[in-house]
Amino acid sequence: MPVTIYYDDDADLSLLKDKTVAILGYGSQGHAQAQNLKDSGCNVVVGQRKGSANYDLAVSHGFDPMTAADAAKAGDLINILLPDEVQGDVFKADVLPNLEPGNLLMCSHGFNVHFGQITPPEGVDAALVAPKGPGHLVRSEYEKGGGVPSLIAMYPGSSDSSKQLALAYAKGIGGTRGGVIETTFAEETETDLFGEQVVLCGGVSALVKAGFETLVEAGYQPEMAYFECMHELKLIVDLFYQGGLNYMRYSVSNTAEYGDYTRGPRIVGPEVKVEMKKILDEIQSGKFARDWLLENKVNQASFGATRRRERSHQIEEVGAQLRSMMTWIDSKEV
Ligand code: NDP
Ligand code: MG
Repeated sequence: MPVTIYYDDDADLSLLKDKTVAILGYGSQGHAQAQNLKDSGCNVVVGQRKGSANYDLAVSHGFDPMTAADAAKAGDLINILLPDEVQGDVFKADVLPNLEPGNLLMCSHGFNVHFGQITPPEGVDAALVAPKGPGHLVRSEYEKGGGVPSLIAMYPGSSDSSKQLALAYAKGIGGTRGGVIETTFAEETETDLFGEQVVLCGGVSALVKAGFETLVEAGYQPEMAYFECMHELKLIVDLFYQGGLNYMRYSVSNTAEYGDYTRGPRIVGPEVKVEMKKILDEIQSGKFARDWLLENKVNQASFGATRRRERSHQIEEVGAQLRSMMTWIDSKEV
């Protein structure tokens, strides 16, 4: 099926005129979506717990933050923009008791709805509107008159009027300026998890570490290994971002391009795709979601231990020192 993309003309902001939009959470997505909607003329209330920097930020942006329960009660559209691993509990405790028939439940990532942690009650439809970029970009592009392309998905059985509301919401955050691609909760959730596990976070980190370790174990200086296997990755990724693999290969030397074609497929061979397929199966079957939810039930014990171990890997120690020598890098040491 050809992809469906909605633009400004496909969405009607006036549908939100007499509605209140509740944004739960004033973090990366929350602060951006709430402000964009407000600047688009929508009535926005913010649900944000007291005592955090995000609470003060919401106040400084002219909001009067309330509890999640009060915001859910006030909202006709309720968008849960909390970390995915806390959404299920907050939904059950604060949102569900305050939903009324005709409300539209929303999110920017389908994890909880797709894996059954959030189930819209009878009479309540659900929609996903997911910007394909971090909150600060959603805000800054909107302020420039543009918008970050976004995804839209409707919970099975939702009405067409709910879809029109979700499209109006997407217009309010600037999404239809860039284009809003239609998808499903399943497709958005599964492809998002797959991308971050296999390529973006998991795959790339493992590749960088393996390259670094191979050079260091062979007796090369860790500083050299850091530059070749991590630092320079940015130059390559920037070329991907601007013009795909073609532009990267056009820009690098012929020697590098020849090495790419002849050696790359030996690093990521058929056995890697077999493992990728297994990881995809675990995502689709819900095994990954169960593992992650269970990890949270035990207060992220093994997750925390792994995080501590990873943070002291040699590549991190060498990297911190080298980054301090490169004054133009806005270095962020955790
Ligand atoms: P953040 O981590 O930036 O923000 C989290 C917000 O939730 C903060 O306001 C925080 O408040 C609040 N919060 C955290 N823990 C709790 C809790 N236990 N009870 C109540 N409030 C809590 O989240 P993101 O904006 O990154 O993510 C929100 C959603 O958007 C997720 O579904 C995510 O998958 C999705 N998304 C994120 C993108 C991104 O680039 N970040 C891109 C597209 C989608 P406090 O300050 O008090 O901790
Ligand atoms: Mg993602």
